[in-house]
Amino acid sequence: MLSISSGWLVQALNLPSPFFSPRELADEISLLVIHNISLPAGQFDGNCINDLFLGQLDCNAHASFKDLKGVEVSAHCLIRRDGSINQYVSFTDKAWHAGVSSFKQRERCNDYSIGIELEGTDDIPYTRKQYQQLIALTLCLQDQFPAIIMDNIVGHCDIAPERKTDPGPAFEWQYFRQCLTEQATRNKT
Ligand SMILES: [Zn+2]
Repeated sequence: MLSISSGWLVQALNLPSPFFSPRELADEISLLVIHNISLPAGQFDGNCINDLFLGQLDCNAHASFKDLKGVEVSAHCLIRRDGSINQYVSFTDKAWHAGVSSFKQRERCNDYSIGIELEGTDDIPYTRKQYQQLIALTLCLQDQFPAIIMDNIVGHCDIAPERKTDPGPAFEWQYFRQCLTEQATRNKT
């Protein structure tokens, strides 16, 4: 079981990012956005994702990083291929993950969402450990923020369809939702 203390996941490696902003009182957390990221694209392991979210990425280290110069982005959590979790922003603050976005006609999804990155790409299957941890994390977040109902768990592709494709066709929504439902039922009995 995962647990949250003062906005931070107890079981995560906490790496506080400078890229966040406080939530307003009116911003009830009601949306969970699933993303993917890999740096360089398609390569796993290494420290580049941490470096990006902490504002420490050496943009000369790889040709593809040039576009990332000056980019200020973050997410609340990253679930790595081995299932370990890093957290960069307190759940009670806004991470800068969604960009220009809208959900159910409401814009600026960062204001009222939590952003979870899976280390991966649109087309490479995610690992079982990633699904296990994503399910455990989602249940933990739903416990803390009950407005995140099943219907309010979406991909970045759903809130910014013209710009974004993640988590991509590799993400097994049906499997994820089914496990989530089963696990939630099991926890209640
Ligand atoms: Zn994304």
